[in-house]
Amino acid sequence: QATLKSSGKDAYPDWKAGDPVPYAALCTTFSLIEMTSKRLTIIALCSQFLQQVLRLSPDDLLPTVQLMICKLAADYTGIELGIGESLIMKAIGESTGRSLAVIRTDQHEIGDLGLVAAKSRSNQPTMFKPKALTVRGVHEGLLGIAKVSGHGSQDKKISGIKKLLSAADAEAAGKGGKGKLRLGLAEKTLLVALAQAVVCHEAAVAGEKAPSAEKMAEGETVLKTVFSELPSYEEIIPAMIKHGIFNLGDHCKLQPGVPLKPMLAKPTKSITEVLDRFEGKDFTCEYKYDGERAQIHFVAPSAVQNFPASTQTLQKESKGLASIFSRNSEDLSKKYPDILGKLDTWVKDGVTSFVLDCETVAWDTVNKKVLPFQQLMTRKKKDVKAEDVKVKVCVFAFDLLFFNGEPCVKKSLRERRELLHECFQPVEGEFQFAQYGNTNELDEIQVLLDESVKASCEGLMVKMLDTSESGYEPSKRSRNWLKVKKDYLAGVGDSLDLVVLGAYYGRGKRTSVYGAFLLAAFNPNNETYETICNIGTGFSEAVLEELHKVLSPMVIDRPKPFYAHSSVPKDQPDVWFEPRLVWEVKTADLTLSPRYKAAADEFNGTAGEGKGVSLRFPRYIKARDDKKPEQATTTRAVAEMYRKQEAVAKENAGKKGVD
Ligand code: ATP
Repeated sequence: QATLKSSGKDAYPDWKAGDPVPYAALCTTFSLIEMTSKRLTIIALCSQFLQQVLRLSPDDLLPTVQLMICKLAADYTGIELGIGESLIMKAIGESTGRSLAVIRTDQHEIGDLGLVAAKSRSNQPTMFKPKALTVRGVHEGLLGIAKVSGHGSQDKKISGIKKLLSAADAEAAGKGGKGKLRLGLAEKTLLVALAQAVVCHEAAVAGEKAPSAEKMAEGETVLKTVFSELPSYEEIIPAMIKHGIFNLGDHCKLQPGVPLKPMLAKPTKSITEVLDRFEGKDFTCEYKYDGERAQIHFVAPSAVQNFPASTQTLQKESKGLASIFSRNSEDLSKKYPDILGKLDTWVKDGVTSFVLDCETVAWDTVNKKVLPFQQLMTRKKKDVKAEDVKVKVCVFAFDLLFFNGEPCVKKSLRERRELLHECFQPVEGEFQFAQYGNTNELDEIQVLLDESVKASCEGLMVKMLDTSESGYEPSKRSRNWLKVKKDYLAGVGDSLDLVVLGAYYGRGKRTSVYGAFLLAAFNPNNETYETICNIGTGFSEAVLEELHKVLSPMVIDRPKPFYAHSSVPKDQPDVWFEPRLVWEVKTADLTLSPRYKAAADEFNGTAGEGKGVSLRFPRYIKARDDKKPEQATTTRAVAEMYRKQEAVAKENAGKKGVD
């Protein structure tokens, strides 16, 4: 049983004010978290630990938070640890003098590399007690490993891991975030715990009694709102320590150079569903372009001094500093030098800074029209030279989030759109505004939808236009943005983005490659991947060969503890993979099956007990390189899709009965 009493302070009486945070204290907190599945207990454990950090070692709060969520630096820095199981096994082997074969066997039996490391160490005679690890030391060590690149980087990474392992005592070696914490704490959980810790700490410093529930909730809202506009702990944590949590909004605002998580849309099944949702409100229907989301950040030389820190991530271009970020906050500037090189043509004079939300779409320069998404995929992803670009892209801008020194996310969409159209200059085939129509007439919306499809778009994005509900909601899948895709209307429903967990060898012509794959949805509540289908349709022979090449290095010995799948032997795939690839998949419909586990907990206590949702006749559409596994379709969304389908089926059955 995890108890608050046994956390941080009691376990580490030697941790004194001014000391660096002992890594073992973090490990203990993680161990306690692993013992519970109750979210409130997890938050309380984290908050208590963070209060201790604030009290004793506030300078270490940033690396502590980063290790807790397993992110060494903000997403847009592109720094990722990038060490798989095989590299860690090699490092354990080399640092303990045990053969790789023995380590593999242990891993197969124990199933947890942390424990394998601990066992390997405890078999070794200890010559001297290593100096205790600190959170800052581990963070720096891992950062060093992550930054290694180029020739010989494998060996350098292994030697970095060995250094950390040899400094870790057996306990720390075994507890560096294993099992369900492999992904680190969910960001949402951490934000709540951090807000609570800071509110409590501030009250204690001021000599006040324990803060009320309202005060805690207020602190959480402040931190969550600030983080959604400026997702950078590097900026937020020092500001919060200096100015206090309740003043954070005055000091940390959206700024060019720090990409924010984009606003997303909810799927709808029909135009009438849109009309029901937006009844009596003004809304607008924009074309839904089928390309890649792009957030363009810009600061003119005259405004750089206003953003000294954040603009360091931006590139120098002729008109000023600029970068393009993906849906995932990755820097795409090296992929789209042709867009950045053309800023002069569409940024009007007098514009000193902006953040634009756009879609880049492949463009047919001869027929002057949008090309299908597949064309865009043929472009190189890195180190593109503008003069070598064969597939031209056009930027379709649909939102303005920051303009001339001020965030505009709280303005209405109508105001943001007016500003966008006023201050930027469309140039055919290079920079255009998303096409739209403002209407709430069903027939007119239908016409717009047909026209959007003729223009090679996926359908429409229907957005609230006025009132406070039309503000831009970073990182939210909002009900104020609805997507109407042409496919839904054919009754197929939305596609799903799923993680590849395993594969089956092919038959006949396909024996040297994987012929089918096991896919999963993501359950963010307990951070598990829950299986949803096997898929073998939609792949060309060439794609299967390529997939075999890409997936082979990701093979692991056994399923991870955070994979949920049937335990029946005949249901097991031939190989298991690290959870890395995300694929977009379409399905005919959804059904319940004991073989798969997606959203199974949602059906406990019903006739579907023990069964998960599974896809019937799934078909591969494309790889979603722009999504991380944790951004796959959630099991909650899967359950919603299933229930909606059931409701429609019942409705139809009812109608038939009446007929
Ligand atoms: P999808 O598979 O539909 O792209 P998604 O999860 O990536 O799913 P959604 O919120 O479902 O994102 O759909 C919004 C996406 O559509 C945006 O991420 C953006 O890339 C694209 N898009 C194209 N045109 C527009 C537009 N006019 N307004 C907003 N987003 C647009």
